[in-house]
Amino acid sequence: MSTVAFIGLGNMGLPMAVNLQKAGYQVTGYDVVASARSAAVEAGLSISYDALSAVRDSAVTVTMLPDGAIAQRVAADVLDAMPDDSLLIDCSTIDVKTARMIHDAAKKAGKHSLDAPVSGGVVGAEAGTLTFMAGGTADAYARSQPLLDVMGQKAVHCGDGGAGQAAKICNNMLLAISMIGTCEAFSLAEKLNLDQHRLFDVISTSSGSCWSVNTYCPVPDVGPASPADNGYQPGFAAALMLKDLNLAMAAAADADASTPMGTLATNLYQSLNALGHGGDDFSAIINRLADLEC
Ligand code: NAD
Repeated sequence: MSTVAFIGLGNMGLPMAVNLQKAGYQVTGYDVVASARSAAVEAGLSISYDALSAVRDSAVTVTMLPDGAIAQRVAADVLDAMPDDSLLIDCSTIDVKTARMIHDAAKKAGKHSLDAPVSGGVVGAEAGTLTFMAGGTADAYARSQPLLDVMGQKAVHCGDGGAGQAAKICNNMLLAISMIGTCEAFSLAEKLNLDQHRLFDVISTSSGSCWSVNTYCPVPDVGPASPADNGYQPGFAAALMLKDLNLAMAAAADADASTPMGTLATNLYQSLNALGHGGDDFSAIINRLADLEC
């Protein structure tokens, strides 16, 4: 398992690949964009100029790609060229249905596979402190574990193929809802002339406490350092939150699940993105509550 092909060397993929190399894996990177390949070379990675040459001699192929259509296309391109009994780990955030299709294609090609989306953002990718939510067989998970341990600080085997993606979108739907609720509470407090530091002291130790308040408070200078203290630079961009919410809504529609708050959160982040704030941290929604359409 010492040879790794890493496909998709963007904001997340490049630092993840670099961490694998630092841990002693022999990594060959590939990205469709020339500037990403150059950045990888500058970071000390060996690269390949096509995906097939990268995967041919690699015991593991890791993909970190923008969306499900691309992840599925890349998997279809590389699975037959991967060595027998090798492993495909897709770390991209994609829809559950496509993740399951990639698992089926891998099985048909005689390869092991794991969907393993991440939480922790670029900072976590660089520091090797990501959380992985994994779906696949117990065997595929066991084979993946040493690599996940290098790239992250926590991995949870959530179940069969697609379960990692399911866990990721459930978590992020809840995060969006809790962030909007947090913003509403702090905005109301301001209108009521309630000191926001005092409100933080109360909520962070009371029944309303949650990650959006305690760790990532959307009010500048309140609570631990967060993107609010840095002009709402991401962090986790509102556009990526909207992407994940749309995946959650698609999964909910497929599964006939009722998600009224998730639907509302999706509409509000859609509206924030339409106002041109997709590049801001998702906590910046606090500054636009009055302008958003439900
Ligand atoms: P990114 O756009 O920076 O990187 C994606 C890379 O994939 C790009 O370099 C692109 O050129 C490359 N690519 C596209 N098509 C390709 C192909 N056919 N073959 C090879 N390479 C190809 O995106 P990112 O921020 O690194 O995110 C990657 C994934 O991680 C996404 O699914 C995203 O939702 C998820 N994610 C991102 C964050 C974050 O904070 N950025 C956090 C958690 C999860």
